[in-house]
Amino acid sequence: TGSVIIVGAGHAGFQLAASLRQAGFAERIALINDEGHLPYQRPPLSKAYLKGTGGPESLMFRPDKFYQDNKIELITDRAHAIDRNARKVALASGASLDYGHLVFATGARNRLLDIPNAKLDAVRYLRILDESQALRDLIAPGMRVVVIGAGFIGLEFAATARAKGLEVDVVELASRVMARAVTAEISEFSQSRHSAAGIRIHLGVQVTAIEADGGKVTGVSLSNGTHIPADLVVVGVGVLPNVELAAEAGLPVASGIIVDEHLLTADPNVSAIGDCALYTSKRFGGSLRLESVQNATDHARCVASRLTGKTEVYDGLPWFWSDQGPDKLQMAGLTTGYDRVVVRGDRAQGAFSAFCYRGDKLLGIESINRAGDHMFGRRLLGAGGSITPEQAADASFDLKSALA
Ligand code: FAD
Repeated sequence: TGSVIIVGAGHAGFQLAASLRQAGFAERIALINDEGHLPYQRPPLSKAYLKGTGGPESLMFRPDKFYQDNKIELITDRAHAIDRNARKVALASGASLDYGHLVFATGARNRLLDIPNAKLDAVRYLRILDESQALRDLIAPGMRVVVIGAGFIGLEFAATARAKGLEVDVVELASRVMARAVTAEISEFSQSRHSAAGIRIHLGVQVTAIEADGGKVTGVSLSNGTHIPADLVVVGVGVLPNVELAAEAGLPVASGIIVDEHLLTADPNVSAIGDCALYTSKRFGGSLRLESVQNATDHARCVASRLTGKTEVYDGLPWFWSDQGPDKLQMAGLTTGYDRVVVRGDRAQGAFSAFCYRGDKLLGIESINRAGDHMFGRRLLGAGGSITPEQAADASFDLKSALA
């Protein structure tokens, strides 16, 4: 294989370097890292880290010594251009690296708002450690924040901000929260919990402008004519995959860097993994680009296997979690295309799961405070299994019996 050069040191890039060494890969591994921190975990940025008092080191996957001990070169720089004929990566600093195999693990970046005053200092985003740190230092009881977007990150931030005593409004264009990702059962439950915590949720409306006075944010205007006063605006309206470097190198990209079922691009010396990769899914048929820790780490492990001689088709089962206030949402499988939802558990008690079916086939399980259902789903769906809607609905049906 020769040297493996990994562009991006997030969840996917870090895991690939670690898994390669674990599998006995003996050649050069360089991890190009354009953030000024050791590789770290992103999920706590909108959860525990934002809420807590721990320092950045609490987020790091491994201490500095790990990289030295494992001869993983962490290069603080930005990959600037790829020459695929010469197999070279040019870095922003002017340095250049030769590769035997190149891996794009470039992740995604925030989609920016394009409305009046969106560039003011009090308009914030939440993707990287520095942004989370700045928000953590900024938010204080009594402050008024408008969160734009009721997706996972918007709602996680909203719940944390509310718990810290802020006045919180959430504005969402869709008619329910997390509409793209979860069933109406979960949306409704989540919405009622956030409302009960004192968060005001505005659905079916758009923020048309951020109002400011002398550069200081004073509020937002909505498409229905409403004005919400605010000191701070936090935007969570999705991400864009970082595909430009690959595209400039002449690799096919669409809504991600296009890779096959082995996570290889059109160039046999170049792979792409994690949030930036649009991969051919054997499990689901068609192309998928997912944004999750599971996807990033399982992609990384698959490529590490291939580069150490065990080529296998990528077939990871998607799973995901989101902590919002006191509630833990977990998802197993992909529920796209469901036509029937069976609820198991007790919605009133705040512990239930939505089993999503197409016909009689179980596609996925969304759980609220039901970790057992979630783990069951990962095992069952991972093995290609299913249970009938009647079994799912029957509280006396023993899920474990379906795993035997
Ligand atoms: P990233 O982690 O984005 O890493 C890519 C890295 O590449 C970045 O450091 C980027 O700066 C760098 N890079 C890009 N271009 C270059 C270049 N040219 N040169 C050098 N470096 C470059 N997922 C879950 O499953 N559960 C959760 O609860 C959850 N919560 C989240 C909360 C927040 C606030 C965020 C932002 C994400 C959350 N996610 C969660 C999603 C998860 O973090 C991502 O799916 C995961 O980080 C993807 O890993 P990645 O390595 O593909 O990309």
